Amino acid sequence: MDQNEVLFDRAQESIPGGVNSPVRAFRSVGGAPRFIEKALGPHMFDIEGKRYIDYIGSWGPMILGHNNPKVIEAVKHAVDNGLSFGAPTKAEVLIAEEIKKLIPTIEEVRLVSSGTEAGMSAIRLARGYTGRNKIVKFEGCYHGHSDSLLVKGGSGQLTFGTPSSAGVPEAVTNDTIVLEYNNPQMIRELFDKQGDEIACVIVEAVAGNMNMVPATQEFLNAMREETAKHGAVLIVDEVMTGFRVALGGAQSVYGIDPDITMFGKVIGGGMPVAAFGGKRDIMNCVAPLGAVYQAGTLSGNPVAVACGLATLEEIKAPDFYKRLSAQAAKLVRGLGEAAKKHGVQFSAQSMGGMFGIYFRGSCPTSFKEVMECDGERFKTFFHAMLDNGVYLAPSIYEAGFVSITHDDSVIARTLEAADKAFAEVK
Ligand code: PLP
Repeated sequence: MDQNEVLFDRAQESIPGGVNSPVRAFRSVGGAPRFIEKALGPHMFDIEGKRYIDYIGSWGPMILGHNNPKVIEAVKHAVDNGLSFGAPTKAEVLIAEEIKKLIPTIEEVRLVSSGTEAGMSAIRLARGYTGRNKIVKFEGCYHGHSDSLLVKGGSGQLTFGTPSSAGVPEAVTNDTIVLEYNNPQMIRELFDKQGDEIACVIVEAVAGNMNMVPATQEFLNAMREETAKHGAVLIVDEVMTGFRVALGGAQSVYGIDPDITMFGKVIGGGMPVAAFGGKRDIMNCVAPLGAVYQAGTLSGNPVAVACGLATLEEIKAPDFYKRLSAQAAKLVRGLGEAAKKHGVQFSAQSMGGMFGIYFRGSCPTSFKEVMECDGERFKTFFHAMLDNGVYLAPSIYEAGFVSITHDDSVIARTLEAADKAFAEVK
């Protein structure tokens, strides 16, 4: 047994499943997860000192690669001034102003500590603002683990076969309506019948929790038009896509104007910062101005916000997204060519610094097509890549992430590993 396996056995004695978030486990692919000791740029190092090219990037935040010197310096400086005050800081104002500058649909924004909190709060706000209860989500989308959103979810829920969670009373999810992703017709029909009862529609404009499935323009247009027509709130969940698929997020790619947007991951740069924000009249319903209660002891934590601000500063560099997109595109193109060489049914695509790989002939456009991906072939590929020093997400239902430090030599090493890995996939 190697040290990872030994520590994994030990971890399982004290932590459920040995991990503090289910997607970190290797249950669907088998084996022990690697226990990471440190990371630098595009690499992570496990407790045996083995180096991996990292395509998880902490599940999205590490867009600058690990241990970016400017970010680390900003965090150290913040630590020197104190860890938490429970009183406002100038840095919170600066990050709110920065988010508004980068995402023009945001007029006011409230910081929280996780994407889950952002989703939970956005839903409460939409309900409080409209005075309605029903919410609409899409199968395969994940918006965090708050009760009313844990219905036909993606990510770990799909991986572990619990798309709707035990422990959530039926009464809580009775008002959650689940529709098919990329099916505009269903949205129109629902709003025709029940439009005046619906508080909000919540969507990942590029789904990243059933692998990566970009929305069609028609699908997003349908929900924007119908919500506007019926006085419902459109919530775009950019926890994953925000500052990831483009500087202006998925909403800038599609030209969509949400009422509320959720952020997380990149805005914290690896520390717990998330946010929800949007139109002023809606945001002003939040306490202390309005009757929608929402709070957090560590919300806007000064060290976490310093990390987020320094990260946002770096991603504004000219050509940042052009370079990031080019590397992700090189990766998926190279993977496609390697699969073809070995006669493996495979497809891949990227948007900005986010990508999807699929063991099926073409990129899926719906949840149903995602479910047709070949999990057994992925499993073989995943382990062969890991053995050859490449750490992919251990599930067919997760998107992958590149950082700005994934340069040509890193992509070339990944493709060498892929050449060997595809050879093992029958
Ligand atoms: N929304 C989306 C789109 C996500 O991908 C995630 C997490 O992966 C969340 C919300 C929940 O964020 P957190 O894990 O920070 O609670």
